[in-house]
Amino acid sequence: MFVQVIGSGSSGNCYYISDGASSLMLDAGICLRKVKMNMKFKASSVAGCLITHEHSDHIRSAEALCKMGVECFMSEGTYLKSVKHYRMSIIKKKFKAGTFNITTFDLEHDSAQPIGYLIRSSLTGESLLYATDTASIPTTWDNLNYILVEANWSQSLLDTNITNGLMTSEMKERLIRTHFSLAKVVDFLWATDMSKVKQIHLIHLSHKNANKELFVNTVQEIFGKETYAWGTTVG
Ligand SMILES: [Zn+2]
Ligand SMILES: [Zn+2]
Repeated sequence: MFVQVIGSGSSGNCYYISDGASSLMLDAGICLRKVKMNMKFKASSVAGCLITHEHSDHIRSAEALCKMGVECFMSEGTYLKSVKHYRMSIIKKKFKAGTFNITTFDLEHDSAQPIGYLIRSSLTGESLLYATDTASIPTTWDNLNYILVEANWSQSLLDTNITNGLMTSEMKERLIRTHFSLAKVVDFLWATDMSKVKQIHLIHLSHKNANKELFVNTVQEIFGKETYAWGTTVG
């Protein structure tokens, strides 16, 4: 499976995946100009855009994508909070888009009905997990090949930022309640069958409370897999 990160982090999230026959966008949180600039694909060839929740860093360009002909899929709770368009669809627990079989799962975030996606290609048999903006991931999976998982913050960087007055205790509370940390990623990966994993993408890194090098090295050293980190971080 081909995975391209178009945008990641609180300034906007958008990912593109393809199995060679069909392609999908994951979230539409960056401005359309940037989507178009990075698009090495035609909007008309995209089988759909999977939206996780209604925060603007994930849904900003959904209506614009619909107008370009891209079907946008989301939970009922997200749909009720979003701008409406006839190409926006409320999805069931399992559905198909192009050659992909997709299963959704509930996440824990300060939004109406946040969901994650397990995406399996019926063409290649490969599977990809997409989970972002969540305090927890409710279950574990076998036979994953690609993992896109939020790694928003680390305890040590958060503590340093609080000591230095860059974060308040209220901001810390919200972060812990709504976003996945590096330590949680490590726990989640320990509980996951890693035998077939080809790539791990650590996504939605916090601007202040994350460090790409530290995050990649931590995960790579433990699990020995090809690992990338994405987000507009200070470090
Ligand atoms: Zn977000
Ligand atoms: Zn969010």
